[in-house]
Amino acid sequence: MSQKQLQLTALAAELAADFAERAGDHDRDNSFPSENIDRLKETGYTALLIPEEYGGMGGDLEDFILCQEQLAQGCGATAIAINMHLFGLGAMVERASGTPQERLFFEAIGRGRQIMGGGISEPETGGDWGLFATKARRDGEFYVLNGRKTFTSLSPVIDLFMVMATLDEGGKEPRSATFLIPRGTPGLELIETWNSLGMRATASHDLSIKDVRVPAIAMSEPRAVGPIDEQAISLFSWFSYSVAAVYTGVAIAALKWTREFTGRFKPVNLPRPIKHLPGIQFAIAEAEALLAQSRALYLGTARQYMADRAAFRGESGLARPVMAKYVATNNAIRVVDLCMEAVGAHGMLKKFPMERYYRDVRAGVNHPLSNARARELIGKSALGISLAEQPRW
Ligand SMILES: Cc1cc2nc3c(=O)[nH]c(=O)nc-3n(C[C@H](O)[C@H](O)[C@H](O)COP(=O)(O)OP(=O)(O)OC[C@H]3O[C@@H](n4cnc5c(N)ncnc54)[C@H](O)[C@@H]3O)c2cc1C
Repeated sequence: MSQKQLQLTALAAELAADFAERAGDHDRDNSFPSENIDRLKETGYTALLIPEEYGGMGGDLEDFILCQEQLAQGCGATAIAINMHLFGLGAMVERASGTPQERLFFEAIGRGRQIMGGGISEPETGGDWGLFATKARRDGEFYVLNGRKTFTSLSPVIDLFMVMATLDEGGKEPRSATFLIPRGTPGLELIETWNSLGMRATASHDLSIKDVRVPAIAMSEPRAVGPIDEQAISLFSWFSYSVAAVYTGVAIAALKWTREFTGRFKPVNLPRPIKHLPGIQFAIAEAEALLAQSRALYLGTARQYMADRAAFRGESGLARPVMAKYVATNNAIRVVDLCMEAVGAHGMLKKFPMERYYRDVRAGVNHPLSNARARELIGKSALGISLAEQPRW
């Protein structure tokens, strides 16, 4: 690790240790850890990826991955929630061209410590991040937006909602765009729906969007729906590697706890703690191997992307970050299952963190691309079949 990475990951580890103290309470109460977000702001973590000239920490994709792995070991929910702010920022910084709007935006996130989030997933389109049911219709210098968004993590603290919508342009080929909408804009309403199996402390509520007027200047460059362009690769790279890191972090925490527990738990009929049993050792070995495989794949692929972004093109280019996320999130579930097996029924007790890891880690495969979509992309890409080919199957 570089000197900078040592500093950044030390900060992430310190924050994780603090957040771990409250993770169980927030999970039990389904409450939002606002105090964690305050600390992330104070320490500059919310501006991790913003260039230093705007008051950020100037972190890159690899720094981001390493930090999120650490943070998730303390509180998976805080880590995945802040990921929804950071991954989009990373992609924006990567593709920035220095426009006055970009500079203002980076300043707001960097020195202003504002939080961005939400606005992609919908009840109608789920994890299909392309054609959105939310529509934006032009009205003079404004767009008028209508729709509903789901899974709006960080909802209590979002300053700028990042709403993706399909442009309502009559008979034209469909295009989508992203709108940055300040909290408090008339017509935006948060509806408190979030009560989930895992990642409970994310406050991923619904966002209702009714006749919301947004200046056209607050809209990103529209994109055709369908083709995998550079922007899609950038967005999915920052998303996939960081999601992989967060769920791997949860699995690492589970494995650490398992090592500690199996080292101290000694049934009366055994001469030594259960870590001396072959079954425990083999489970730990399998878990270690899975984690090493995940980390090698997502860190390695991310480093290749950073070194040569042009080599990641089209569907085969997208398949690479998607494969890293697919492998890591599925491995993370298997690792926590193995840990559960090793610690026995102790893992089910609410007084221990293991059952929270077990529930939290399950959310990983639901983030796009889901297992089914990832397999389709990776399989078709390997076989030279385009996603657009009809009939699909
Ligand atoms: C903890 C957490 C936090 C989140 N935070 C945010 C957030 O802040 N902002 C945000 O926008 N989103 C967020 N999300 C949403 C998330 O990233 C996904 O968009 C969402 O989980 C997808 O939900 P789904 O599984 O119902 O998807 P769906 O797309 O509805 O899929 C349901 C099932 O159908 C299958 N399926 C559906 N369509 C197809 C198809 N065409 N081909 C093949 N299979 C298909 C899928 O594979 C899956 O098995 C969050 C999710 C979680 C779990």
